[in-house]
Amino acid sequence: MFKAQLLVQYTAAAVKMPAELFFSDIGMQQVQGIVSDMPFFLQLFMAMFAADLFQYSIHRLFHGNKFLWRFHAIHHSIKQVDWIAGSRLHLVDIFITRSISYIPLYVLGFSTEVFYVYLVIVSIQAVTVHANTRIEFGFLKYFLVTPQYHHWHHSKDAKTHNKNFAVHFTFIDRLFGTYYLPEDEWPEEMGLEDEKFPKGYFNQTIYPFLKDPKVSSPRNPSTR
Ligand SMILES: [Zn+2]
Ligand SMILES: [Zn+2]
Repeated sequence: MFKAQLLVQYTAAAVKMPAELFFSDIGMQQVQGIVSDMPFFLQLFMAMFAADLFQYSIHRLFHGNKFLWRFHAIHHSIKQVDWIAGSRLHLVDIFITRSISYIPLYVLGFSTEVFYVYLVIVSIQAVTVHANTRIEFGFLKYFLVTPQYHHWHHSKDAKTHNKNFAVHFTFIDRLFGTYYLPEDEWPEEMGLEDEKFPKGYFNQTIYPFLKDPKVSSPRNPSTR
């Protein structure tokens, strides 16, 4: 599934030109001109914020929609969150999430450098937030999504379900009331109750199409 992540990043770069052409005539030229004239770091911050906002919405939908949850539950079935876990995602999950998150990148007219630096950042952060590392991030942990922050998204404890959907900035969760970060604590257990997913990449890939895993988790009451 790691390969799938790379494939997505490659696709994102490959469709950049056609996507920009596609979105070029939607009356955004003025906005695109203003954005591409902004300083690099401001553009990068805006790109991360806009992409995270879109990512947040689709991520929440993957948790709330019964059918989409079938696919996303695979990511949440991991009990041991580690660096490779970031890549344990169903292809449908990766493609829908990424294509929605990248829309603002194509529409708002960010410079090519910002676009590519963003692709690198999103890949590094996807691996880092799942890494089983207790690196201290100091005050940054209240601002940036860190391993501790995202581990709480994977927590098995019902009290902490439906929290921390953001992947870049924690204030997006604060904005929508889904922020959860106790001082120095980490979740005791991760994964889902009554998880019945088959093992192996191929079996997990076809499973959501064939069966509702009926993973009982308060995270998604509709599957109970
Ligand atoms: Zn999730
Ligand atoms: Zn995750």
